Amino acid sequence: MEEPKRTALVGMDTAELIKFAGRIGAPAFRGKQLSEWIYRQGADGYDNMTNLPAEFRAKLEESCDLHPLTLVQRQDSVDGVTKLLLNTHDEQGIEAVLLDCEDRISSCISSQVGCAMKCEFCATGLGGYTRNLTVGEIVDQILQLQIATGKRADHVGFMGMGEPMHNLDAVLESLRIFNEELGIGYRRMHVSTVGIVPRIRELADAGLPIHLAISLHSPTDSVRTAIMPVNKKWPVREVIDAARYFVSKTGRKITFEYLMIDGINDTVEQAHRLGTLIKGMTALVTLIPFNWVDTARGFKKPSSDRIRRFRAELERMGVTVSQRKERGQGIDAACGQLRGKHVGRPIPVNARILNVV
Ligand code: SAH
Repeated sequence: MEEPKRTALVGMDTAELIKFAGRIGAPAFRGKQLSEWIYRQGADGYDNMTNLPAEFRAKLEESCDLHPLTLVQRQDSVDGVTKLLLNTHDEQGIEAVLLDCEDRISSCISSQVGCAMKCEFCATGLGGYTRNLTVGEIVDQILQLQIATGKRADHVGFMGMGEPMHNLDAVLESLRIFNEELGIGYRRMHVSTVGIVPRIRELADAGLPIHLAISLHSPTDSVRTAIMPVNKKWPVREVIDAARYFVSKTGRKITFEYLMIDGINDTVEQAHRLGTLIKGMTALVTLIPFNWVDTARGFKKPSSDRIRRFRAELERMGVTVSQRKERGQGIDAACGQLRGKHVGRPIPVNARILNVV
């Protein structure tokens, strides 16, 4: 990756900001003030930092950027979803979403530019992989959402672009900053993965009470491999073992995300096998009807009747099931779609948000 030409302050914690202030010849309390402005006040420029002397602000201006990301485009849906397209210093577009619900303000952020996992149904996967995001670029997504909307997320979900387990160090550091600098509880943080087995175990060993979601999408290797190439490396059985390990280490419930594609993984037989596979686990299954993406394989979402039958079979087997609400109408809010539009790929106007916790 091309290194940023200048450092950015967002992504440094208070201790690092204090050190940074020292490096440019200012006393420690200036570092604390910077932290206040960045993480508590959500300042979008040095000019807003009214209690800092003009000289110090000029020095900051000269030596480093405040935010590593810049806003390119904003979309708002009628039902309370805001989606931002943000640019990195090397002109990579990434997406972040804020969803204002009755009881929470959720967010959906990206961990990579693109994704290497090549899931057959995913707009991001179809676009290929460019690079990992830095800690600053991850943290800044939450701050940019706040600056754009005046609302601060109280739930954070790594369900935007990228595979968080392939950028785990930066993701873990960002979780720490969300917790320590933004005051978001670990229990309100969600990490979603395709199921990178050794990384799930590493995350379990980190012992954070975060919420882990695994994109299972089928209980059988043949079906799963056909839509998620990662299954060749980490088959269903190993993913489930790692999930059990995570539950035993953290005491947290696991979510299995289940994307439903018509005629592919939505049969009652698949539901039955899923129920058998996860029997006795502290788990929740979230059904996500396929959000239209031009996959070349002509995937579509199942009828509501098929979804209902799938769900009924799971419930009959004692599995707790929820269904992801479709929100963000008209704003291209599903995974990878805003960026797709920006780089010239057509997207449907009735796209809906799916990937927000
Ligand atoms: N790489 C991680 C996180 C990003 S994707 C993961 O795969 O879990 C977040 C969720 O959106 C995943 O469950 C993913 O399978 C799902 N998703 C991707 N494309 C989708 C589509 N077209 N419709 C519905 N859900 C989709």
